[in-house]
Amino acid sequence: MKGALVDPGGDVEKLKSAVNQHKVDIEKVILTHGHLDHVGGTLEIAKYYDVPIVGPHIGDKFWLDALMQQSQMFGFPPATPFSPTQWLEDNDKITVGTLTLDVLHCPGHTPGHVALVEHTSNQVIVGDIIFAGSIGRTDFPQGNHDQLISSIREKLLVLPDDMKIYPGHGPTTTIGHERNTNPYVASSQWG
Ligand SMILES: [Zn+2]
Ligand SMILES: [Zn+2]
Repeated sequence: MKGALVDPGGDVEKLKSAVNQHKVDIEKVILTHGHLDHVGGTLEIAKYYDVPIVGPHIGDKFWLDALMQQSQMFGFPPATPFSPTQWLEDNDKITVGTLTLDVLHCPGHTPGHVALVEHTSNQVIVGDIIFAGSIGRTDFPQGNHDQLISSIREKLLVLPDDMKIYPGHGPTTTIGHERNTNPYVASSQWG
């Protein structure tokens, strides 16, 4: 029952009680990107469990450095800037218990965004890259729409059809469903 918390944006007490309830031994905090709603609870969680912070890619350093400004921008309580224990690179591997997460660098929503693929359970954690029927915003600083579309097509939509997608917001979906129906990136829109 080893585990990791991915993108603890806040609600730290809820996360702790869920961890407690399922008797999970937390090994690390993993971050997909540097936006406040994905990292706001990170420092508190990492200190509480005394675990390393892994990710995102260093392209999101400016977002983590600007956590104070992000708190003001989104009307959240002040969040302290931090650096992760380890920045991630494309094709890195992260172990969680006996599982291995493959890191895919998928810039566009933010320059340092990563997705986390777990092949044995056939799942991918995608943060704000893609959602059921939608894609991440690209109107923030250093967002890039064309880059996001390329990331999704070249890195995510090549994964197995039946792989389950866990987005940072909204319901789960699958690679095949999004490849066939997502209006931003569906196969019929290619070329
Ligand atoms: Zn985001
Ligand atoms: Zn988000």
